[in-house]
Amino acid sequence: MTDLRSGVRDDFAEVFGREPDGVWSAPGRVNLIGEHTDYNLGFVLPFAINRRTVAALGLREDRRVRVGSTFADELVELDLDALGPDALGGWSAYPLGVAWALGQFGADLEAVPGFDLLIDSNVPVGAGLSSSAAIESAVALALNDVWRLGFDRQTLAKVGQRAENVAVGAPTGIMDQSASLLGEADSAVFLDCRSLDAQVVPLGLEQAGLEIVIIDTGVTHAHATGGYADRRASCEAGAKALGVESLRDVSVADLDRAREVLDDVTFRRVRHVVTEDQRVLDTVRTLREHGPAAIGELLDASHVSMRDDFEISVPELDLAVETAQANGAIGARMTGGGFGGSAIALVPTDAVSRVQVAIDGAFAEHSFGQPDVFTVRASQGAQRES
Ligand code: ADP
Ligand code: MG
Repeated sequence: MTDLRSGVRDDFAEVFGREPDGVWSAPGRVNLIGEHTDYNLGFVLPFAINRRTVAALGLREDRRVRVGSTFADELVELDLDALGPDALGGWSAYPLGVAWALGQFGADLEAVPGFDLLIDSNVPVGAGLSSSAAIESAVALALNDVWRLGFDRQTLAKVGQRAENVAVGAPTGIMDQSASLLGEADSAVFLDCRSLDAQVVPLGLEQAGLEIVIIDTGVTHAHATGGYADRRASCEAGAKALGVESLRDVSVADLDRAREVLDDVTFRRVRHVVTEDQRVLDTVRTLREHGPAAIGELLDASHVSMRDDFEISVPELDLAVETAQANGAIGARMTGGGFGGSAIALVPTDAVSRVQVAIDGAFAEHSFGQPDVFTVRASQGAQRES
């Protein structure tokens, strides 16, 4: 992290020929439980991880904007007056979409100066750990500071979401940005996606001798296309057929009626969301009453629901989950939007290397690509670094 921070400062000086005004950072996130519940206005329980995106930013005297990233070999330039969803594309739609979205939330973009911005990151891209929220949140916090906008973190989360929905064109919910902006060390963020009420819930992993192992399958997913939008449409159709505003308004007890009203596929999509909401509530209660060693079955049940009802898993994710479970994990599930990305496993510290070795072996045996298996800690959210 120290390297990333000082590295981006040095890179900024090299690229732009001057010092930045400051360096900001924001983490990626892992969702402990609550998948595809966010846009259904339900509950999620993500935590910020110790993988971060850093943003070095310096204001300019004119209205130019220049942005670069170690992720991309190009410097994107435009005028603040030209900022708008139609003018943005590619990776720079994330940081520049945030600048535009701040205006949508009331910042007077005609009264602010342009800026030079350089991004670096150690959040794996497209792995389901939300490199997208990390870049959005780092840039949102940076611009909020240098432009002296005074938005609170909940609003900055909405700004990041707006950028991703409109400037990038990915119909994602508010979870990722909330985790990245509101996370705290060794804690998860229990988020009500309807009220946007957020509570920090201590995880107590260290004290319990437990680690979160990430298994990045290397199978890439694309939010802007395909399955994610399709599942979202199914949920909307299900809510409409049941006469409710969103699936948040459907309880586990309502599922019998839902089965009669809905076709089989829509019913199973709805059942995933409704039971997943309940599992999030159960996980928060279990964490508070019994600690993290007691949440394994909830994680396992979440995976089964995503695999069989929501149908967003892939063979690599199923293998990762099953292998972890068979080698000492207390619980495991795929995490993120699905169709690739990562699985998480809750593993006693002394079983971590056994799980790692077993997953490597199982993937080789199935001729799947080499997975990236590593542990993450629940970490503090976005912050100014210097
Ligand atoms: P995820 O959020 O799961 O990592 P997404 O597809 O939602 O995957 O977001 C990844 C995209 O976000 C990248 O393709 C890129 O356009 C943008 N992005 C993420 N991190 C960076 C970065 N450090 N520099 C530039 N663009 C980034
Ligand atoms: Mg993303």
